[in-house]
Amino acid sequence: MKVHCTNCNYQYSPRSGKMPSKCPYCDKQGSIEKIKEMQQWIDEIADEEVEKSSRC
Ligand SMILES: [Zn+2]
Repeated sequence: MKVHCTNCNYQYSPRSGKMPSKCPYCDKQGSIEKIKEMQQWIDEIADEEVEKSSRC
C-alpha cells in the first residue's frame, strides 16, 4: 500500500500496512490519503471477470 500527503505531496509505503494519522515528513495531522495503484485496478478488474465467467 502506498500513501501520500495532501499537504506536502510526500509519498511512501507505511510498513505497518495501516493508514498513518499524520505525515512523517511535514508532520501535519490527517493529511495522509491512500493512493490506488494501477496494478490494484488491474487486479480488481481481473477478479470481476473471473467471477462473472464462473457464474455461467
Ligand atoms: Zn506532509
